[in-house]
Amino acid sequence: MAHLTVDIGGRPGLDCQGFCKYCYFKGVREEDEPEPLGCKYCMPFSVGCDYCTNFVRERYTGFKDLRDVADDVLGNLQMMGGNLERITISGGGDPSCYPAFEDLMDLLGSMEVPIHIGYTSGKGFDDPALADRMVELGLSEVSFTVFSVNPELRREWMGDKTPEASLAVLGKLCQKIDVYAAALIIPGVNDGEDLERTCKWLEEKGAKGLILMRFANREDQGLILKNAPVVKGQRVQTVSSFRDMVTDLNGRYNLRISGTPLWDPTLGSPFAILDEPELLEKLPRVRKRASLISGAIAARYVQDVLDACGNKSWVHSPKKEIACLITRDDLKEIDLPSLEKVVILPGRSFVHEMEAAEILSADGVKRTVIRGPDTLTADAETSMGMTRNEVLQMEIDGFSALIHLINQNGV
Ligand code: SF4
Repeated sequence: MAHLTVDIGGRPGLDCQGFCKYCYFKGVREEDEPEPLGCKYCMPFSVGCDYCTNFVRERYTGFKDLRDVADDVLGNLQMMGGNLERITISGGGDPSCYPAFEDLMDLLGSMEVPIHIGYTSGKGFDDPALADRMVELGLSEVSFTVFSVNPELRREWMGDKTPEASLAVLGKLCQKIDVYAAALIIPGVNDGEDLERTCKWLEEKGAKGLILMRFANREDQGLILKNAPVVKGQRVQTVSSFRDMVTDLNGRYNLRISGTPLWDPTLGSPFAILDEPELLEKLPRVRKRASLISGAIAARYVQDVLDACGNKSWVHSPKKEIACLITRDDLKEIDLPSLEKVVILPGRSFVHEMEAAEILSADGVKRTVIRGPDTLTADAETSMGMTRNEVLQMEIDGFSALIHLINQNGV
């Protein structure tokens, strides 16, 4: 079973026919030498690597030439074993705005395997007939940012010059293939009645799902590229009101509606395992002590799972709500005297262990810092195509790895 990812390159905003007003890359300063964040890919004794310096900012040079994309495809195919099962088109820019998009689809369509577009805003689709053509060439699944089915809102907030055509393409795709629509929810703009219209429209057209994303406008809500606020003066929903909104909509429309960071009401995730006492019993027991760092939203759930396994240490969190977006500055908020001698960081946090150890030992107590597993659960973007059992398995794997780490390194 082989899965080919086709990277077309491109820069967010610049290769998306201009920035959406809410784009998290808007306002990121172009610096010749940006300060690296530090991450799990860095070398042990040096802070900074291509991932946490350039990739995180999506510092691509622009869309790749079709010839280069074709060469990459050929090279990757030669290195692959097994039958090609699926192709995913991805990139920093928006595939619908790729200048040679139709040629690319022709090229990939000739391989006669299902094609998946990892993310598109649809801003570059200006002819409804393109939908039929893409389906004929093998497009089978797409994640499509709808934002709103009101063309004027797409025009104003996404800079979509042809919103009617983009929506027509979306509607046709919903009828023919698996469409997961997405909408970043800007309170007062595309929530309330407008969101009801969007859900109804997607339900009628036959979309598989709708992922709602809570808008973040401050650093503690997850911004890491020194570009807060993304929309000046914009109100932001609380996590609980966002979660309630998702639950309510999912109950009333006949399509799967989930939210990120919280939650997927159909599966009861993230942290679905908390409703499964028998599975909690099967997790390894925590036998040592180590402090855990997590995001402000996940911390209490992580604490509950670990406590059910005999844990006696605290899960700490800075104000930053999302664990994967914790940076060195966030660690400075942690109350050091309450930390154990061993501290485990979220696996994908943007911190270098060496710097973290320095910050978390600033009270004179030398602490060992270890990086934890990449994921402990599935957020809605991951869980949208999954079953509850698949999410539970992911949680069992994540927490088992975490508990082994505590037992191996804790005190
Ligand atoms: S389409 Fe996505 S990446 Fe491009 S500007 Fe809009 S939000 Fe940013």
